[in-house]
Amino acid sequence: MKAIIVQHPGGPDALVHTETNKPDLKPGEALVRVEAIGLNYIDVYHRTGLYPLPRPFTPGMEAAGVVEAVAPDATAINVGDRVAYAMTVGAYAEYAAVPAAKLVRIPEGVTAGQAAAAMLQGMTAHYLTTSTYALKAGDWAVVHAAAGGVGLLLIQMAKRIGAHVLGTVSTEAKAELARAAGADEIVLYTEEDFEAAARRATSGRGVNVVYDSVGQSTFMKSLGALAPRGMLALFGQSSGPVAPFDPALLAQKGSLFLTRPSLAHYTLTREELEWRAGDVFAWLKAGELKLRIDRTYSLEEAAAAHRALEGRETTGKVLLIPQ
Ligand code: NDP
Repeated sequence: MKAIIVQHPGGPDALVHTETNKPDLKPGEALVRVEAIGLNYIDVYHRTGLYPLPRPFTPGMEAAGVVEAVAPDATAINVGDRVAYAMTVGAYAEYAAVPAAKLVRIPEGVTAGQAAAAMLQGMTAHYLTTSTYALKAGDWAVVHAAAGGVGLLLIQMAKRIGAHVLGTVSTEAKAELARAAGADEIVLYTEEDFEAAARRATSGRGVNVVYDSVGQSTFMKSLGALAPRGMLALFGQSSGPVAPFDPALLAQKGSLFLTRPSLAHYTLTREELEWRAGDVFAWLKAGELKLRIDRTYSLEEAAAAHRALEGRETTGKVLLIPQ
């Protein structure tokens, strides 16, 4: 089969398209013939070595396809099932061996491309808005990188709860997309002070929560934008890792809460995985959640896809399609 392999972490050229063997099934696993692969920012962290993986490895944490074989003890899933999954490494390939417990069936009416676009970023927006800081109607939330993959979904999920959203983006074109997704206020955070804008929007009180996936360049102002006892959900670092800081700052800025959540810890049980994926698929089918599939590349073009994502060129979701 064809797959992307990383031998030496580094730039996009570390993603080498090559011929390799289909993965062997371990107990509890299913072999998925991959139809669509979701690109996620974590793939960049794996490629660069910021989040180290044993080498060589095939990157990719999300895909959708058809089950082609199952290990004898993987009873919950059948050959021929249409499935999607997230948070198992190895998706940049024509076939992936995935623990059957991580697979969810794709409902009728949802394509493999939509499923691969919705699983990881959709469940992330779901856990952030329902569990990390459970939004209530009338709350104010800041959503950074609001026109990104997670960002557009976060806005929509916050709005269906009845919260107010201040989104941050780097360009006017992205501002339009975030507004169309439902954001009440937009700040071009590369030009304007989003902390001051968040204070203005809340009559000086500050926002209840900041969903911050940008990290280094936004962290301090995100803390500054919060109301007393507000929460900073720092769930990514697309601008680089946050420097160490003195926790006493959280008291000075209003007895704030800081958490660094990961989807892995919010899909700990089968029940939790099915709840989050089930809601995402149901809202998609009902037209309550809109996906924006920005672009599609072939598997062979993975390096170009990474360049576009890191270069802040993409909005919404990027997919890779194996031939
Ligand atoms: P995005 O589509 O959001 O792409 C990243 C965006 O970050 C860019 O489009 C850009 O938007 C913004 N950005 C700001 N500064 C930079 C910079 N210096 N370099 C590059 N981009 C920058 O990606 P995803 O939706 O895939 O992921 C968003 C974030 O969420 C990532 O940090 C990812 O790791 C994290 N994540 C965390 C999860 C978790 O459970 N903890 C799960 C899923 C994702 P703009 O141009 O508008 O600034």
